[in-house]
Amino acid sequence: MNAPLILPTPGIQPEIAVAAMPDDERVWVPQAKDVWFRPLLLNTVTGGWCNLLRVRRSGILQRHRHPMVVVGYVIRGRWKYLEHPWTAEEGSFVYEPPGEVHTLTVPDDCGEMITFFNIQGAMVYVDEDGRQVGYEDVWSKIEMCRAHYAAVGLGAAYVDQFVR
Ligand code: FE
Repeated sequence: MNAPLILPTPGIQPEIAVAAMPDDERVWVPQAKDVWFRPLLLNTVTGGWCNLLRVRRSGILQRHRHPMVVVGYVIRGRWKYLEHPWTAEEGSFVYEPPGEVHTLTVPDDCGEMITFFNIQGAMVYVDEDGRQVGYEDVWSKIEMCRAHYAAVGLGAAYVDQFVR
């Protein structure tokens, strides 16, 4: 017979329940020209993060490799990878296997896309020849958020509510 659970379980991490897309534009952290991310979970235990990615027309998310799995759901707009024939439409689910290399763009007929991504591990930015030119992980994302939230007046600690 199982021992009764101690409730609440000591040491358990607090849950997160937030408006994913609040009116406050300052939650969006600039990443590149016409590219922003909005953190939802920055997981320092498993090494990964959940965020909304927003890309406006002419925005490009630089070519990168995923060493671990990524899944996503398109909330608004549409986008494609230069390396693949398909387009992710509003309402699409996307799975990206470990080892996948791609460059994200928004088609000319779309003003803005917003997609929820759950990213494990890291993003390794690469050049045309596959050579590494940049790197992001949960720690670099946290630092980007701290710097941005401090700069826009929310305070660096604003990011703490998303860190586990
Ligand atoms: Fe990607």
